[in-house]
Amino acid sequence: MTKHSSPKSICPCGSKKEYQACCGPVLEDHKRALTAEILMRSRYTAFVEKNTEHILRTWVDKRRPNSLNFDDHHVTWVGLVINETEDGGITDNAGTVNFTSTYIEQDQLCSLSETSTFIKKAELWYYVDGACEVAKSKIKRNNPCPCGSQKKFKRCCLAQ
Ligand SMILES: [Zn+2]
Ligand SMILES: [Zn+2]
Repeated sequence: MTKHSSPKSICPCGSKKEYQACCGPVLEDHKRALTAEILMRSRYTAFVEKNTEHILRTWVDKRRPNSLNFDDHHVTWVGLVINETEDGGITDNAGTVNFTSTYIEQDQLCSLSETSTFIKKAELWYYVDGACEVAKSKIKRNNPCPCGSQKKFKRCCLAQ
């Protein structure tokens, strides 16, 4: 099930821009990802929105999974930080993006760090692959939920 962010809300990708000025248009049109970082951000937002279509079409052919199923794997995405980019600009044909994404899975706060490789083919950027590391820590039930709701964890994402 795809959930859509509202146009005026702040984009989930951590850019602090409005959704319609950030990942929104890219999710509608792959061509608008002019740099590897823009594509990376839009793919993160697509994970948040469970937009499998965008995730799959922006994955390079040879590495693309046949399908993605989010139904048996419930995570709440908390945020994305782009740490470093190398090349991947408008005039480049390849580049890397190092990022950390954070999500809640069951009672764990997970921090996934990856250096992703991107390539441009026929004027479109694609995700190739990346080696990731995930660090996990247990969230206390009575702590504020890391999703930012200001509710206790046990009454928020733990209860989902
Ligand atoms: Zn965005
Ligand atoms: Zn929560």
